[in-house]
Amino acid sequence: MNNNIYQERRNALAKQIHAKSGGGIAVISTAPELARNRDSEFPYRHDSDFFYLTGFEEPGATLVMEVNSSGKNYKLQSHLFCRPKDTEREIWDGIRLGPDAAIAGLGVEFAYSNQELDHKLGELLADQDAVYIRLAESAEADRRLRHWMKKVRGQARAGINPPSELHDVEALIHEMRLFKDAHEVDTMRRAAVISARAHIRAMQVCKPGLREYQLEAELLHEFRNSGAQSVAYNSIVAGGANSCILHYRAGSTELRSGELCLIDAGCELDGYASDITRTFPVNGKFTGPQRALYDITLAAQESAVTMTKPGNTFMQPHEAALKVLTQGLLDEKLLKLSELGSLENAIETGAYRRFYMHRTSHWLGMDVHDVGSYREQSNSSSKEEKPWRILKNGMVITIEPGLYVRPADDIDEAFWNIGIRIEDDAVINDSGCELISRGVPVKADEIEAIMKNA
Ligand code: MG
Ligand code: ZN
Repeated sequence: MNNNIYQERRNALAKQIHAKSGGGIAVISTAPELARNRDSEFPYRHDSDFFYLTGFEEPGATLVMEVNSSGKNYKLQSHLFCRPKDTEREIWDGIRLGPDAAIAGLGVEFAYSNQELDHKLGELLADQDAVYIRLAESAEADRRLRHWMKKVRGQARAGINPPSELHDVEALIHEMRLFKDAHEVDTMRRAAVISARAHIRAMQVCKPGLREYQLEAELLHEFRNSGAQSVAYNSIVAGGANSCILHYRAGSTELRSGELCLIDAGCELDGYASDITRTFPVNGKFTGPQRALYDITLAAQESAVTMTKPGNTFMQPHEAALKVLTQGLLDEKLLKLSELGSLENAIETGAYRRFYMHRTSHWLGMDVHDVGSYREQSNSSSKEEKPWRILKNGMVITIEPGLYVRPADDIDEAFWNIGIRIEDDAVINDSGCELISRGVPVKADEIEAIMKNA
C-alpha cells in the first residue's frame, strides 16, 4: 500500500481546516456493516471518504484528524481507531489489521482500538474550537457527538472549553475528490478496461432465446475473473421494451430476435467505479429504425465528446448532445416540425423530454454518481443560482446520451420499444478528454462485426 497518497490527502485536508478555522478536529468514520437477513450480511463496502483519506477497507474504523495551528503553521496528527486484534473473532471473520500494525500500515501517528473512541474523543475535543464532521449524517452519529461534547463540557470547571463551531467536513473532501490524481486515473483506466471486456463478452454470447440474467452472469464473470471486487452499481441488462425503463435491472425476460438489448454495467476496482452502456441488436443486426436512432445517439455522443474539455462548463456537452438528438427526432418525424416550428423551439419547450429524459453526464470516481458540486464554488453568499461548473483537468465525467421510444398512437410502430443509450467515461485533460472505456467498440458496424464473428 502506498501510504504517501493518503498522507498527502490528509495533509491537504488539514491545510484547509487550518486556513478556514485555525485548526480543529475532523472525525470521519467508515461505513457500517449491513445485515441482509438472519446471520448474513451484505458484502462490506467501505465509506468512500474514509477510504480516500486512509486506504483502509475494514469496517468499524474512524479517522480523527487533529489539526493544531499556531500562527501561519499547523501540525496534523492522525488518530486511527480500528477493530482490536481478537483471535476468536478473527477465526470467524478474518484477519484484522489491529491498532499496533495500523501505525506503520496506514502511516498514521496514533492508532487505538475502536472501543477507545468515545473516551479519546473527549480528550481530543478539549480546547478545540472547531469540529469537522458529516452534518446530520445519522441519529447514531448525532448521539455519539452529543456524548463526546458532554464529556468535554463536564470538564468545564477544570478550565477546559468545549468546541463552539461545527463544520461540514464532506464539502471539503468532496471538492478534493472531484479532481482525480494520477493514481486514481490509473485505477479508473484499469476498471474501464475490465468493464469494456465484459461488454464485449456479453455481445459475443448474446443470441435470441437467452435471458437477461444470463448476460448479467457473463458480465459478472468477466468482472470477478479480472480481479474487480464488485460491480460499481447493479447491472442493467434490458431486452426489448425493458430498454425504455431507465432503472431496470437484469430480469428474466427472454431476449428476442429483432429487439435491442441495452446493457449499462461497470465494475468497481480497488474502490473506483466504471460506468459503460452499450446497446446492440439481440440477433446481431440492427433493423433500419434501430440503426437510425442508434446513429443519432452516437452522433450526439460524439458532439458531446468534442465539448468535453477544460474551460467549457459541465452543461456544454449536454447541450451539444441535446441539439443532435432533437434534430434527429425531427428528422425521423418522432417530433413534428410542423407542430414545433424549429429545432430551437423543440429544445426550449422540452418537447424532446418524451424521448430523452435524463442528463448527459455525471461525475464518476469512487462512487458511480460521484461527489462534487455541479455548480461553481464561490464565496459570495448571494442567493442567485451559481454558474455551472467549469470543466478542469483531472475531472472525470460520463457521456451518455440516449433515446427511448415507448409505444404510442402517434408514433410509427417500427420505432416502438427502441431504447438506446451509449455511455463512455471521460477523463478531462489538457487537450480535451480521454475516453477510457472505448475498449468496447461503439460504432454500429463494429458491434455487428463483433457479434457476427463470435
Ligand atoms: Mg451507467
Ligand atoms: Zn452513468
